[in-house]
Amino acid sequence: MKKTTIYEDKKAKIEQRTHACPHCGYPVLDHMTECPRCKKKITPTGYVPMSDEKIKKIRWITYSIGAVISIVIIVLIIVFRK
Ligand SMILES: [Zn+2]
Repeated sequence: MKKTTIYEDKKAKIEQRTHACPHCGYPVLDHMTECPRCKKKITPTGYVPMSDEKIKKIRWITYSIGAVISIVIIVLIIVFRK
């Protein structure tokens, strides 16, 4: 097995996630939505934005957990106040 340095591993990983800009050929990472050189819009290939439905679901779960924690804290304050 060939020994690689941490730097070489990182470089290889970045190269895997890099592709050429369709407008100017500049190497861009797969999650980028805009080319850093020509500033034109590019379609990200390695990153898919979260759907509205998923955002709503995560928000609902987060609010629910927050509400439950708030109620528990209020109940604990009322119980241990005396
Ligand atoms: Zn470009």
